[in-house]
Amino acid sequence: MVFSLDDARRMDREDPLASFRERFAPIEEGSIYLDGNSLGRLPIGASGQVSHAASKEWGERLVRGWGDGWYEMPRRLGAKIAGLVGAQSDEVIVCDSTSVNFFKLVCAALIYQGPRAEIVTDDLNFPSDIYLLQGIQRFTSALTLEGTNHPESGERGFRQALRVVPSRDGMTLSEGELRDAVSQATALLTLSHTSFKSAFVHDMARITKVAHDAGALMLWDLSHSVGAMPIELNRCNVDLAVCCTYKYLNGGPGSPAFLYVRRDLQEKLQSPIWGWFGQDRPFDFGLDYSPAPGIARFLAGTPPILSMSAIEPGLDMIVEAGLDIIKAKSVKLTEYMIALWESDLQRLGFRLQTPRDPAIRGSHVSLGHDEGWRINRALIEDMNLIPDFRQPDNIRFGLVPLYTTFMEVYEATQRLQEVVEDRVYEKYPSERAAVT
Ligand SMILES: *Cc1c(COP(=O)(O)O)cnc(C)c1O
Repeated sequence: MVFSLDDARRMDREDPLASFRERFAPIEEGSIYLDGNSLGRLPIGASGQVSHAASKEWGERLVRGWGDGWYEMPRRLGAKIAGLVGAQSDEVIVCDSTSVNFFKLVCAALIYQGPRAEIVTDDLNFPSDIYLLQGIQRFTSALTLEGTNHPESGERGFRQALRVVPSRDGMTLSEGELRDAVSQATALLTLSHTSFKSAFVHDMARITKVAHDAGALMLWDLSHSVGAMPIELNRCNVDLAVCCTYKYLNGGPGSPAFLYVRRDLQEKLQSPIWGWFGQDRPFDFGLDYSPAPGIARFLAGTPPILSMSAIEPGLDMIVEAGLDIIKAKSVKLTEYMIALWESDLQRLGFRLQTPRDPAIRGSHVSLGHDEGWRINRALIEDMNLIPDFRQPDNIRFGLVPLYTTFMEVYEATQRLQEVVEDRVYEKYPSERAAVT
């Protein structure tokens, strides 16, 4: 266990990733940014890339840009990301938002699974995913859809069943609890790999097998994992996955997401959104849809080239750094923060709401506090420390191996102590803002 400032300095000196920090646009002196699990910092290379894409590619090449590489970008960047998630280069494509991709893959799985109509998830999942599942339920019950006949009654257009398995401690969920929840009626098991609130990480290989043993497909949302740890989609035999690129991949606000479909499933599944970019021969302008071969069938419409161009410099840095080294630093950073919590913060009413075992922990640390909302506000407005707040009492600290230093973690816990000891937060009302 390490507690002193000297230890933090030493760990920074020994950090094999130290040089990457300078490759991000500087932030205000003295400010500590610990929200990279919500929006990653700006790689300096990305601002150059975006300005090149705007002034040269768009400004000068105009529509010819499609022939100069824009058209291939979703596949080309997908292939690069595939290397970060243990997939083949033709199993990943960059497109749309995570929410839209999730909708596409859930619908594709339901159509494929025929009479099976139940979806299983857990209450650690990201709310957007659960809303989408509720929306799909509503949609399929409002329309009479082929392939959604009730397995027993044969009734058409019945409500899809959605089962949300509750976590007992609000932080973790066991393989056994999920095994009990899936059955022969389950079409799809879908989970967030790393929980956005507690940073708990599901065992991808074992849980995927739970789904497969019941004949269900498995869809992982990797948004809080990719770029912070190695992922092995092929080795775990994962069917489907979605993920955003603006958290640990540092792709910028609202940068396009990606999706993964295992190769042998690609020809068996269809997107519910039959747009021209997913059509076999879009430039024939024929009036009948037939899906493109392979992963491209999951595209919908024209990709956002400027946002997409921002992604690549961040990806290249992750590839260069290596995910094993990134994960090793992530463990060290989170261990360090937990050690500081134990020695200095616990006595001030902070509760550790993240697993202690690094094998089941992502790269953020959640601390609960009865005054969590006001403390978070005071940290941002008075202490120049930027974490974020998640209901009901969670302050999240994202520790990003490419740019977070041990000194910052140390200093952040000093500021946390000060906010509580000096009651800095008391000047703020308890009402909550719209975006946290
Ligand atoms: C951040 C995040 C998303 C974001 O979805 P968007 O469509 O990009 O808003 C989805 N799922 C999880 C698990 C996330 O952490």
